[in-house]
Amino acid sequence: MKICNKCAAVFRNEICTLSEMTICPLEYCYGEPIIIDEIMYEICTILANKQYRIMYCKSGDRNIPTFIHIGGRYTGEIPKGFRIKYFKDGESGDIISDLYKTYNIGLSSTELKKKILRTILDMFKWAENLDYNDNWWM
Ligand SMILES: [Zn+2]
Repeated sequence: MKICNKCAAVFRNEICTLSEMTICPLEYCYGEPIIIDEIMYEICTILANKQYRIMYCKSGDRNIPTFIHIGGRYTGEIPKGFRIKYFKDGESGDIISDLYKTYNIGLSSTELKKKILRTILDMFKWAENLDYNDNWWM
């Protein structure tokens, strides 16, 4: 599934070829539909509605942190247990904020799944408590 990072519209496979859609098809939106994990849907919706520009996110897995990339230099609160780093987008040169959480590689797969689900809940609480972003598209 894809979610527009500006208007939070959701696009599923049956509507269009997701990989080809780089600009939101809704009139006057011009947001960027991004691929997300279903489990991140609520979090992404809240963030888009609060004007945070989500560039990419993953719910996490073994060797893959749970992360969310936000356009611009984000300096606000971060979800519980997360770290933040900044990098430059290769194409545009824009600053992107990487909020991420890694997991102990020694965890069993059940423990890892539980931790990821708790992380998703922590992210949900974080997103709900965030103030609106005034710097959209900066
Ligand atoms: Zn849109």
